[in-house]
Amino acid sequence: MEQMRSYYLWTIGCQMNKADSERLESAMSQMGLTPTGSPNDADVVVLNSCVVRQSAEDRVVGMLTSLKPLKIREPNRVVALMGCMVGPKADRLQSRFPYVDVFMRPQQYEPLIELLGQRMGIDPEGCVGPLTAKPAVATYIPIIQGCDKFCTFCIIPYRRGREVSRPVADIVREAELLAQRGVKEVTLLGQNVDSYGHDLPGAPDLADLLAAVNGVDGLQRIRFLTSHPNDMTRHILDAVASLDKVCEHINLPFQAGDDAVLANMRRGYTNAQYREKIALIRTRIPNVSLTTDIIVGFCGETSEQFQQTYDLVRDIRFDKVHIAAYSTRPGTIAARHLEDTVPAEVKQDRREALESLQESIAAEVNASLVGRTSEVLVEGVQGGKAYGRNRNDKLVHIEGAEDRVGELVSVRVEKASPWSLQGMVAKAPALAGGRV
Ligand code: SF4
Repeated sequence: MEQMRSYYLWTIGCQMNKADSERLESAMSQMGLTPTGSPNDADVVVLNSCVVRQSAEDRVVGMLTSLKPLKIREPNRVVALMGCMVGPKADRLQSRFPYVDVFMRPQQYEPLIELLGQRMGIDPEGCVGPLTAKPAVATYIPIIQGCDKFCTFCIIPYRRGREVSRPVADIVREAELLAQRGVKEVTLLGQNVDSYGHDLPGAPDLADLLAAVNGVDGLQRIRFLTSHPNDMTRHILDAVASLDKVCEHINLPFQAGDDAVLANMRRGYTNAQYREKIALIRTRIPNVSLTTDIIVGFCGETSEQFQQTYDLVRDIRFDKVHIAAYSTRPGTIAARHLEDTVPAEVKQDRREALESLQESIAAEVNASLVGRTSEVLVEGVQGGKAYGRNRNDKLVHIEGAEDRVGELVSVRVEKASPWSLQGMVAKAPALAGGRV
């Protein structure tokens, strides 16, 4: 039996990875391990990997390589790699990184937990499951794994597999446990949450799930991430509009504005259809905030085609956009059948043009909120000042709420930048909902 006391967990990538890491941390805490800030001091080192971009994968490889001397020096140290870098077959990874003890696909924590149980001489039964360690005020619940869409640029369906939904009852139970432990806000997570439930008996949809989670006592807010334009139905929109705990924010990636580029990406909608969907959302949920994901410089994208993307951002006036320059991911349809023709400097120019446009839009949108009152869930204190998010998912720094972490407070917005708001605790309560 070995003495194991500490772990170091390094996470890169999306919220799904962060949610996976939270669960693994919860399991390791239950086994008596405590976190440390450096792999040098840890008995167990876990890297939770991402491969969506080449740069992310390169960072994981760099971290893995730097662990080799540590492992050689102390062979009893456990090194584990989890996440999207571990595909269905780990053989190639095993021969490339033979000093790694465990390879785990997303959500598959058991091999590590079992190994730690054997080494520590304890029974890990029951350690893996819903979050049980002390969670943050706002946390995540994965509701659907994988993706069936196979967009040509994306590696996710190959690494995370086909869509598998968790039963409604499991998710509600987890939300109840979290609420009992002080969680006030949950974000329901999936690569495509709008297709939730089609594989379950009775085919409940995201709207049904939102209604069920809305009934959990103690929980005050519900968010969901990420959506696909084709699966965002009226039923879901009406649930967002009518359920009091569901926040008015939708992330709806459009990726590109030109129809031919969208077809090459195999996104399954046109520019006009995306605009119609946005109009429908804004009609059904008037106070909604909208964010999106964009890829610039996809295979063969001309400057005229990029202009369609630019025009869409200008016309829709999103609250926030996430912009990525296209890079080929080996194993995707695009890597096999399309050519990455746009030069890196052109991609960079397009990205900067969009960033600058969005910065001015976000500055105007946020400036219009100055003087208004907003309901903010206080999530923590940083640099002596409280911070949290309003229902529209805007980051708000708050004066006078340092001792109110975990509470919903009314905040009068005093200042705005393109990236955040600043305000003071207000006497009058905030209006429910609203793009404030
Ligand atoms: S919808 Fe497309 S981009 Fe999103 S995870 Fe699925 S395949 Fe990837």
